[in-house]
Amino acid sequence: MPELPEVETTRRGLEPLITDKKIVSIHIYKKKLRWEIPSHLKSTLNNQTVKAISRRAKYLLVQFEHGQLVMHLGMSGSIRVVPSSEPLKKHEHFEIKLDNSTSLRFHDPRRFGSVLWQKPNETISLLKNLGPEPLSYEFDNNSLFKSSIGKSKNIKTFIMDSNVVAGVGNIYASESLFLAGISPKRKAGKTSKNRFIILTESIRSVLSDAINNGGTTLNDFSNVDGNPGYFSQVLSVYGRDNMPCIRCSGKIKKIIQNQRATYYCPKCQH
Ligand SMILES: [Zn+2]
Repeated sequence: MPELPEVETTRRGLEPLITDKKIVSIHIYKKKLRWEIPSHLKSTLNNQTVKAISRRAKYLLVQFEHGQLVMHLGMSGSIRVVPSSEPLKKHEHFEIKLDNSTSLRFHDPRRFGSVLWQKPNETISLLKNLGPEPLSYEFDNNSLFKSSIGKSKNIKTFIMDSNVVAGVGNIYASESLFLAGISPKRKAGKTSKNRFIILTESIRSVLSDAINNGGTTLNDFSNVDGNPGYFSQVLSVYGRDNMPCIRCSGKIKKIIQNQRATYYCPKCQH
């Protein structure tokens, strides 16, 4: 499943390929993704020019003069830009043809992704109440501590709550807690401000490292093959149950929290 670093890498890959390009036509091959792709996009976006592409949490926002296309990659989505003459692949459900004879294509075998529309001065419900971006200045040394007061849920579930901080997914929640030396079982409301400051730094650091790493190991976004945006990460603890901890050589443990797998070192994290 693409996490924030994959989405950010996708944004960076697409940016030079679509910015300032004019849309020639919109094609919806499979309307029903996680939600229906609005059919008005065919007329709304006709002749519009892509102003920019940004990201909020795990959503890609393609900016136009009169609104934004909001795309989410779901479980298995990916986006590439190819010559429009390239034959369509089986799971390419949405296509934007651009005026330089290339096409942005949304590929999603499991169809949990989404393509939505947001008008100017409107915030669609999915983007409402999102906490600060983890790599922005808004996510400061007070952010986590302030939100944690009175919270009895465990700290791993807490940092995965998008109202607290936007876009920290399952993999990077485990990785950040390992880096910070904090047990995922600790209650959020029983964690000191100092430890939250260390965790804030850890979240920033694992996400930035993953983004930097992604940029180097990535498939080309204009490549015809493969799933651009997916890359193998260097992970310290996630997926390493029963393997030796890279710090203390103790055994990494796997537990389930809030129906999601958590990996941690019981010796290094408390
Ligand atoms: Zn350890």
